Amino acid sequence: MSAQLVLRQRAELVQALCCGGTPEGLESILDLLLSWGALVWEDYLSVCVAGKTLCCRTRELLDLVYSKGEFACCHLLAAFSQVLPDAQKNNLSFGKCSDVQNFQEMPTSATLTLLNDRPGMVTKLRHCVDGALDVLFQQGFLTSSECEGIQLPVYTSSQQVRRLLDLVQFKGEGAAKVLLQFLQKIPMTVLPPNKNEKPTKSAFVSEFQKKLCSSISAQFHFLSTYSGTGKFSLDDIYTEGLLELGQGGKNTQLSLNLEDVVGRVGTLNKEADTVLVSGEAGCGKSTFLQRLLLLWARKAALHNYLLLFPFSCRKLNTEERELSLKELLFLHCCWPDSDQDELFQFILDHPHLVLFTFDGLDEFKQTFSDDQRHCCPTQPAKVSVLFFNLLQGSLMKGVQKLVTSRTEAVPPTLRKYLCKEVLLKGFSTDGIDCFVRKHHSDPGIASRVLESLRSNTALLGLCHIPVFCWIVSKCYKELLGFGNSSLQTITDVYLMVLHHFFHHRISKGKRSEKGWVHDHFDTIMHLGKLALQGLQKSHYIFSETEVQNCGVTEDDIGRGFLIQSKNISFDNKHYEFLHVTMQCFFAALFITLDSSSDKLTIQRLFETECTAKGCLGILQAKKPDGPPSTEAPNLQITSTFVSGLLSQRHQGLLLQCCPIQTLHRKSKLVVKYVSRGMQNHFKSIPRPVKGEKKSMHAMPSFVWLTKCIYEMQDSKVAKNVVAKLDVEHLKLTYCNIGPLECSALAFVLQHLKSPVGLQLDSNAVGDVGVEQLLPCLHVCHSLYLRNNNISDEGIAKLVEKGVQCDTFKKIALFNNKLTDGCTQHLAYLLKTKKNFLSLRLWGNKVGDKGAQALAGAMENSQALVWMSLVDNGVGSAGAQALAKVIQNSTTLEELWLSKNCITRDGVQYLVQALEKNSSVTSIWLRGNNLSPEEVEEFSLKERRLTF
Ligand code: ADP
Repeated sequence: MSAQLVLRQRAELVQALCCGGTPEGLESILDLLLSWGALVWEDYLSVCVAGKTLCCRTRELLDLVYSKGEFACCHLLAAFSQVLPDAQKNNLSFGKCSDVQNFQEMPTSATLTLLNDRPGMVTKLRHCVDGALDVLFQQGFLTSSECEGIQLPVYTSSQQVRRLLDLVQFKGEGAAKVLLQFLQKIPMTVLPPNKNEKPTKSAFVSEFQKKLCSSISAQFHFLSTYSGTGKFSLDDIYTEGLLELGQGGKNTQLSLNLEDVVGRVGTLNKEADTVLVSGEAGCGKSTFLQRLLLLWARKAALHNYLLLFPFSCRKLNTEERELSLKELLFLHCCWPDSDQDELFQFILDHPHLVLFTFDGLDEFKQTFSDDQRHCCPTQPAKVSVLFFNLLQGSLMKGVQKLVTSRTEAVPPTLRKYLCKEVLLKGFSTDGIDCFVRKHHSDPGIASRVLESLRSNTALLGLCHIPVFCWIVSKCYKELLGFGNSSLQTITDVYLMVLHHFFHHRISKGKRSEKGWVHDHFDTIMHLGKLALQGLQKSHYIFSETEVQNCGVTEDDIGRGFLIQSKNISFDNKHYEFLHVTMQCFFAALFITLDSSSDKLTIQRLFETECTAKGCLGILQAKKPDGPPSTEAPNLQITSTFVSGLLSQRHQGLLLQCCPIQTLHRKSKLVVKYVSRGMQNHFKSIPRPVKGEKKSMHAMPSFVWLTKCIYEMQDSKVAKNVVAKLDVEHLKLTYCNIGPLECSALAFVLQHLKSPVGLQLDSNAVGDVGVEQLLPCLHVCHSLYLRNNNISDEGIAKLVEKGVQCDTFKKIALFNNKLTDGCTQHLAYLLKTKKNFLSLRLWGNKVGDKGAQALAGAMENSQALVWMSLVDNGVGSAGAQALAKVIQNSTTLEELWLSKNCITRDGVQYLVQALEKNSSVTSIWLRGNNLSPEEVEEFSLKERRLTF
């Protein structure tokens, strides 16, 4: 009966534990199941394997419990009933299980006591983990690195306790007894630190909180891109994006949950209280924030914050008055009906209970600066001064702030005030699948759209950016009707949506012979003018007068590209483009089609030097001494569209309303400036240091110019541009390279004259990106893809091509999602390519099976010099297989096997093999399952082993 209930409600149970995004629910349930004896220790460990997503762990738990039968299922339901908040329990049935009792016998040992009382221990120890660690350390049960491992700020205090309990369990009776003694001694009155103490909420705070919640719920219920269709609420369509810690964090690859973003995970600067969520245009920053705000308003997340004030930088731009902080909060977010002074005082007194969010820092008119200090919450100041002082903490220290921005628009001066940076990397391939299925209620259509995407990986690559995924889903009829093979670039995708909007909102009779661009020329130019004027002034919300001044008519608005701004505090109608990329596209159309846009207009659009300095006063007189402008990222998108629109492939379309000579002239200019930009970039490469390779560390403008060339889809241009590039190593680490950028890079780099080492570490390449890179693999002697979310599937494709590329000799794949499944492909690579030099697989999960497969392939390799399988779950069986390779190899020099689980037996095989080998200089074995005595013994026996 209970088993049936678990099976029937599987989806709901998964949803209940995963919807909040934090693992606390799942971990509390595991605590209960362990303490009730419904799970044994091994079961628990198998569910808790690091690196799996929350949903994956939850599903595994359900599978495991179901396979254990009725007793376990009944206890699982009981645990859910205890852990879930009432609101979440309403739709679940627990049968008769809700109040099972703990019938465990009296524990007979200290370790069993800890296990039986685990949930209680977590609560009791939460506020004194450090004390417990001290005692265990002093008595020699824990090492200092074990203590540090537990205290890592990525863990909540409950998680720290759980890790401590796990370790003590592992250490045995002695350690468990010490911990129990410690617990008996701690006073019962250990209080949480002051910060977490909730003050009694006065009635006026509750009232205001209610008002805030309902205003947020109303404002953020729908996504602007779905406005007008009335079809989807955010709940219906929200799909989780990939969130990772930014550069500088210890574990950048760690994927984060929604709530981790404001939590302690990955904190770099404890003094700061501003968290930045960054990513490129359309990757879902505003939507993510919207989701977080809605969950808070429904009390489903961020419980620590009593009050939350959401700001939009777009809207802050429109504020010209000087305001006090109080006015800023209440006027721009929510007006309290009474007790304003008391409420403001409450906020000042309890900063840790308040969260401010700022959406779209990149759209704020002024660039962040910290030269003007303003600390007084009651004194009026310009909005920019208030905003910047809030971010850097001079004003309202202690209030947590969450800011979203495009990565390239984050000024370096802001970075020192950030407590951490979180990168939003768009949808994973599963995310695309999930989004498309949510968008189309007809599963048949969803499947056809997905099939169509899979058959065109360039397009699939684009869809990792949610806004493109939305367009493709919206224009599914065009996608399925006309065949998708011609859709390669973002210009193609935006022309498709342009066609879609015009096509759907016009009666058939109105279409003329001259073509649809011609038919809608006036609308395009009106909207284009508005878009461009807006970009020039960092202006994204337009009043009715501004709209009319650009000639935009009611009819033009009716096309759907402009939507009414949903910000409730405006007195009269205001408009925004559906998305900022749409504004850029219309600006690009205007520049392309307007007969009066001249040489200078195009030249300024591609001025890279100026962009780098952040003083791009485009299309107008430059403002050399003025404040640095924030428009550069939008201009880059606009110029990318201009490159695409002026390419040969779209000339036919634009000829409907623009003479061929004009198009040719403009197109030549674009090619000239893009090429010049690239050459300037290459010239800036420093000379190589003696003895080192000539290396180019690409700047973001290199990636942008590459994307411009890709939009043109003109191989001749690509060939000419890289003809003079003479480097041996091309470094593009932390450059926000996703599948789209991979397509562009491969399009250009495939024409390189001599092979390079291509270093793409710490980007978001993924399997689809790997596939996009294949056309340039023949010019890569080495490929570095650390931290890139690549799975076995990506490796299969890489190897298939790699074996055909003579020069390809080295690959580094640290910290991806590889398992033993990929080793058969890599083994094939090693066997087939006799000249392969180096394989580095650090931080994956290839295990013994994978090590054995690779060893099998390496047995006869007479080229491999370097091999790393660090942190891969390799045990003695794997070591035994690798020992055979060592025995026979005359080329292998270094073998890295640190952080695995090799025991004495495994090391013995390695030692025996080394007796017969003279090429190996070192085998790294730090962090395996060896006692200090064994380490000493082996170090003496074989000097080439490094521990
Ligand atoms: P950004 O703020 O990064 O420019 P947005 O959040 O405005 O991007 O996203 C653009 C569009 O992409 C949204 O209007 C929505 O249609 C779609 N989108 C973005 N993120 C998501 C998501 N997580 N789930 C569903 N759709 C999304």
